[in-house]
Amino acid sequence: MAKEQRVVFIIFGGSGDLAHRKLYPALFKLYLKGYLHHHFAVIGTARRPWSHEYFRQTVMESIGEDIGDQEKISSFAQHFYYQSHDVNDAAHYLALKKLAAKLSQQYQSHGNQIFYMAIAPRFFGVVAQHLHAENLLTTTGYNRIIIEKPFGRDVQSATTLNAGIAAAFSEKQIYRVDHYLGKEVVQSLPLLRFTNPLLEAVWNHHYISNIQITLAETLGVGERAGYYETAGALRDMIQNHALQILGLLAMEKPAEFSSQAIHQQKEQLFAQLPQYSPSQIEQNFVRGQYDTDKKGDQLAYRQADNVANDSSIETFVAGKILINNSRWQGVPFYVRSGKRLRQKSTRIDIVFKNNHSKIFTPSQLQTSTVQPVILSICVEPVQGLSLTLNGTNPGRGLKPFAHKLKFQQSLEEMNNSQEAYEKLLIDIIQGDQTNFTTWNEQKLTWGFIDRIREYWDHTRPQFPNYLSSTFGPQQSAALLAQDHHKWVWGSED
Ligand code: NAD
Repeated sequence: MAKEQRVVFIIFGGSGDLAHRKLYPALFKLYLKGYLHHHFAVIGTARRPWSHEYFRQTVMESIGEDIGDQEKISSFAQHFYYQSHDVNDAAHYLALKKLAAKLSQQYQSHGNQIFYMAIAPRFFGVVAQHLHAENLLTTTGYNRIIIEKPFGRDVQSATTLNAGIAAAFSEKQIYRVDHYLGKEVVQSLPLLRFTNPLLEAVWNHHYISNIQITLAETLGVGERAGYYETAGALRDMIQNHALQILGLLAMEKPAEFSSQAIHQQKEQLFAQLPQYSPSQIEQNFVRGQYDTDKKGDQLAYRQADNVANDSSIETFVAGKILINNSRWQGVPFYVRSGKRLRQKSTRIDIVFKNNHSKIFTPSQLQTSTVQPVILSICVEPVQGLSLTLNGTNPGRGLKPFAHKLKFQQSLEEMNNSQEAYEKLLIDIIQGDQTNFTTWNEQKLTWGFIDRIREYWDHTRPQFPNYLSSTFGPQQSAALLAQDHHKWVWGSED
């Protein structure tokens, strides 16, 4: 059993989708594992006037029966309390403070408090300011604030938001969620890099040709169109998830595996992101927007509810990022994310150079070419690793043959693996900030994204430019072709 933690959670947006679909099931898993036991309480706040009993009912319904038996679910739900709350009303914070203090006594949680912002981003700042002004932070225990994405929409709005939060909470108390950092395979990247000498030794421009990061979704924009029209794939996926993965892949080796050392290396790396000029943006970044599919069955992005019929918002981005340091000189990091693509896939492909095979003449190799060695790291929907190595087939002499070594987690192992929110909540209650983003990381990644966004805002794209259920626009393949490379995933299209 895990060590029991004492804490009162205060969830702003306690009646919302994130809370019900992700947070309550994840908290219940922590309860089953013993991280939460007797000494915890959860206050859900939202505008609706719900009773504690009704709230508990909604919490119980959000937990699938496959996770635990009814008795456990019901004893878990007894720890939940509801407080009707308007984020702008100071009096409501005083009522919340009273309830939190009472529950802290009742559950002997030692004044430890976690404030979870499961509300619209426009409320993050005002809630943080009221928590400060109405004195909700305890002096006896810890106080942590959890901020969901998006953290601003450009460097300016992110700075304003951060200043609002920083007025009440120190950086050590702020947990900025990027749920891709909660995924097991993403969390394991430092371990993969730094415990395998055969990888660590070749993790540089001498041996690596290019690195590809793909975040592909099959779903369209669905009900998030209102938000998406103000964001687009560049802000929604690249600024945070894709660049965070890039950071873990490209950072220098930290002195130790600690939150501080990892963030220090990532920040240093993000400070080296290129400052692209307009012509470099034109050359290195492409965007797309989905149309219907080949048969005309699916709605194009522009036909979705709450989307302008001449919208220039991109649902696809592919870009080439060059990190100009001694390790990565000349190695393109290609990042790609899109909606309505043919398959769902989050993966990293590391393509090695094969110029070390030049000692063989074509006739020695029986005119076959040596394929590049590729390490593929699959994050979802399947988790696993594959590595191609050049060898030969028996009886065929020196003719090269690419052998694929593959490890794929079984369905059972995948079912046992912890969901991103469960892992992140464990980190939060244990005070580990490794898998959250720092303000400096946010500032530097927004700085990189803003230049592209500003340039795109002043140039009108020819949209739509890719059919649903394909691998994206033709410009995406062309981006790599100009470097004589191709996407490992989906290059047949
Ligand atoms: P939602 O619309 O389902 O829920 C919003 C909540 O905020 C509701 O409980 C509502 O009652 C409350 N609320 C609205 N106005 C309020 C006010 N004036 N005062 C007090 N409470 C108020 O939204 P969601 O999908 O749960 O998203 C919440 C946050 O999580 C957003 O920042 C979103 O970007 C982020 N997020 C959500 C998901 C997801 O899967 N839903 C994933 C990643 C990030």
